[in-house]
Amino acid sequence: MSIIHVVSMSGGKDSTATAILAIEQHGREACRFVFADTGNEHAETYRYALEYLPIALGISVDVVRADFSDEFATKRANLARLAAGEPESAVYGRRKFQYAWTPAAAARALDLLHPTGNPYLDMCMLKGGFPSRKRQYCTDYLKTQPLTAYAVGVLDAGHAVWSWQGVRIDESHSRRERLQGSGACVKSFEVVGGGLFNYRPILRWTARDVFQAHELAGVRPNPLYLQGMERVGCMPCINCGKAELREIARRFPEHIERIAEWERLVSAVCRPRSPVSFFHMGTQGHADQDSTIHAVVEWSKTTRGGRQYSLLDQLDEPTACSSAYGLCE
Ligand code: SF4
Repeated sequence: MSIIHVVSMSGGKDSTATAILAIEQHGREACRFVFADTGNEHAETYRYALEYLPIALGISVDVVRADFSDEFATKRANLARLAAGEPESAVYGRRKFQYAWTPAAAARALDLLHPTGNPYLDMCMLKGGFPSRKRQYCTDYLKTQPLTAYAVGVLDAGHAVWSWQGVRIDESHSRRERLQGSGACVKSFEVVGGGLFNYRPILRWTARDVFQAHELAGVRPNPLYLQGMERVGCMPCINCGKAELREIARRFPEHIERIAEWERLVSAVCRPRSPVSFFHMGTQGHADQDSTIHAVVEWSKTTRGGRQYSLLDQLDEPTACSSAYGLCE
């Protein structure tokens, strides 16, 4: 049984350094490179991961995307029943919901709820809201699941798979706190079973090591790092900090406008009055949408002592994705 080294590429510095290492140690022939497209990336990241890196590293990069066709069919069938006046208990059983559907709202949602082909937006339309730090399902739906399906495809073809994961415990204070003692810090190599192995070769590397690996291989980092971005990946990421959001709004206002449009679309297909905004306000209801992306961007421009959205204070400290797989920077 031959071993295939599968490297998840995000367009970020850590996954690029991991790819460089995999090629160095095993050669291109034994490696596969795969990019999970969330649909919420900066154009520069698509260019870097799918155009520049293939040329710079002499590789091809496969792209995977989450597909929500089945979920759309189920949700549309449920909405049709609600629009026809069936009570929620008949559709969802005993489950309790904080906000209730009305037949009119269900009919409007049914009219608008169709797959857009953008995985991030489709996921949010189905969920009736956006992921949050407490419910960070985006990594699972948009990255872990499609990448796992890719690895399973390689396994099914009769290979063993080493899944190379560019996670570093030094990436952020919060990640260090989460990973120290969790086992991930000591398990740079892990037997998953069924021919699948996890390998985290840069677990103890610093950011400096990572950039040095780029330099030694003659590969330039994603240009977004030179434009004030501390990390690349979703633009913006739900985990981004105040200063980072301010910088995104200043440099890439088109991304803020796209999120504002997504907030409008998701609001139109979710339960009436349920809170829908890209950055969450905890468990507090906010039917007047006072934490829309535009409002949060305005807040990001305030200094301490300026007008504060107190419930969003947690955004002061950027955190990393909680995934131990290093799928999101
Ligand atoms: S980069 Fe952020 S928003 Fe995107 S999938 Fe990862 S955690 Fe979610």
